[in-house]
Amino acid sequence: TDSDTADEAVRATCDDASTCKRFATSKGYWSDPYIQYFVRQTGERKAPEINRGYYARVQGVNHLLDAFLQKTQCDCQVVNLGAGLDTSFWRLKAENTLPKKYFEVDFPMIVARKIHHIKAKSQLSKPLIETHSSDSLLLDGHSLDSDRYCIIGADLRDISSLEEKLRKFQINTELPTLFVSECVLVYMNPEQSYRLVHWAADTFHTAMFINYEQVNMADRFGQIMIENLQRRQCNLAGVDVCQSLDSQKERFLSTGWESVNALDMMTVYSLLPQDDMSRIERLEFLDEKELLQQLLQHYSICWAVKDALSLGDFKFKTITY
Ligand code: SAM
Repeated sequence: TDSDTADEAVRATCDDASTCKRFATSKGYWSDPYIQYFVRQTGERKAPEINRGYYARVQGVNHLLDAFLQKTQCDCQVVNLGAGLDTSFWRLKAENTLPKKYFEVDFPMIVARKIHHIKAKSQLSKPLIETHSSDSLLLDGHSLDSDRYCIIGADLRDISSLEEKLRKFQINTELPTLFVSECVLVYMNPEQSYRLVHWAADTFHTAMFINYEQVNMADRFGQIMIENLQRRQCNLAGVDVCQSLDSQKERFLSTGWESVNALDMMTVYSLLPQDDMSRIERLEFLDEKELLQQLLQHYSICWAVKDALSLGDFKFKTITY
């Protein structure tokens, strides 16, 4: 059916993200020793603008993720929605900053692939087993459950089934919980993404939600981005929410979140630590900055907080590493 084709195209975006991250790490933009086990080939060359964009995306999201772990002293949970082949679990394990439990959700088909890689590669399975106390580990085709890491196959548009699965794997609604969605909500229609962020605010008293996705899509450059994705039959049902930073914030403000911030990625880029920035700007030559600026102005990070435990503000101005 049409909707199967559209879902398949959305699932394919998972490979795009991982392939681009794999390429950027192979160029030295940041280090990710685990991504090679999910994407074997470095793949064809990507433009320097793309690599810098991914650098800003990963640094920006990690900055907020690490700030949350620090403020809660890891006495928290992380739920990565539409995680794809994300490798954060292994980074946090290596840095000794794992939350109480790290959850990931994606379509069952993607989850099955991820679990297959984990089973096949000891570099991936060993850290997971090290954080697990008993001999047995729940592993079936489309879910994995261990003490600290859980991967769930579910459709994020079906909230009741999502909640049922998270509860089955012992999510604790009393613990501070961080939700992360990186290029995911744009593939749902506004009602569906509103329902998801509303459910998160409604179910957890202390929570943060980090959302990275397209913004300012109403202008000419945005239209070209949309056309490119549509050409690949991707259903950008949520693109209406990507009109402006205000519409990004509105999604959270109208669904029970207490405070919301949003920055476009050009701003985030300018706030990243200067020494690392001069390092990555030397990696590949960029003759004109305009395309990079255009690209970065069309992505944003929005983060919302619901704070019964008074964790305080999460700001970008204080970036220090
Ligand atoms: N967050 C990962 C990253 O940034 O590397 C992957 C991003 S990829 C662009 C979008 C991911 O969201 C895909 O893995 C896709 O399968 C997942 N996704 C989109 N809609 C979903 C839905 N309704 N239910 C579950 N997963 C979904």
